[in-house]
Amino acid sequence: MTTVLLLSDIHGNLPALEKTLEDASQRADITSVWVMGDSVGYGAQPNEVVERLRSLPDLAMVKGNHEAAAIGEISIANFNPSAAASAAWTADALTAETRDFLSSLPLTTVQASITLCHGTPRNPIWEYMFTSQTADLNLNHFDTVGCVHGHTHIPSVFGGDASANWQVIQARDADVFQLDYERWFVNPGSVGQPRDGDPRASYALLQIADNVAPRIQFHRVEYNVAKAQDLILDAHLPSTLAFRLSVGR
Ligand code: ZN
Repeated sequence: MTTVLLLSDIHGNLPALEKTLEDASQRADITSVWVMGDSVGYGAQPNEVVERLRSLPDLAMVKGNHEAAAIGEISIANFNPSAAASAAWTADALTAETRDFLSSLPLTTVQASITLCHGTPRNPIWEYMFTSQTADLNLNHFDTVGCVHGHTHIPSVFGGDASANWQVIQARDADVFQLDYERWFVNPGSVGQPRDGDPRASYALLQIADNVAPRIQFHRVEYNVAKAQDLILDAHLPSTLAFRLSVGR
């Protein structure tokens, strides 16, 4: 059996990432780490977060809209004002090494017969997996049974049967699910900017074994929110990006 640490939407929040890594390593022997995009943007430590991720074992990582914006691959015209301001700040803050690494990331990748993407397989940069209709629309856009993604900042499971009837679950701390569906989508939630009203960092552990459906465990962990907020304010990023971390919105 292997245990994969699922991380997404870290958003330059190193205090949240460090606490998540510590909590996860106390719970399991982690074989691989999969990161579903938006490692940068909003938070004040994009280079530090990317460097920390690159030190992890057997890392697989995809590009999100915030990476694409920070390296100039997409326009920030569609971003809301605080997201646009942070994208401009991040673009300026990235070292050449971080920028090169982010540029090299794929939009989707397949690991252990599971598809990784940021938004959805059909539109990895922009589409949000909020409804079963979106799940339906994506079924023909990837070849594996399961897909792990991010982007909504909400921990969730979409599990479909053979008739594409979907069970849609918003996951809570300590929830465990056997992913014995015909097709499924899983989002571990956001490490660095949760939006489900719970300010604790969100992540998941995915256990993969032969001849049995993968099993996922969702976790939340408290971290030093005040530290992440101070870093955002000290960097003169929009103050709303600091305040929202206290409320998880
Ligand atoms: Zn995000």
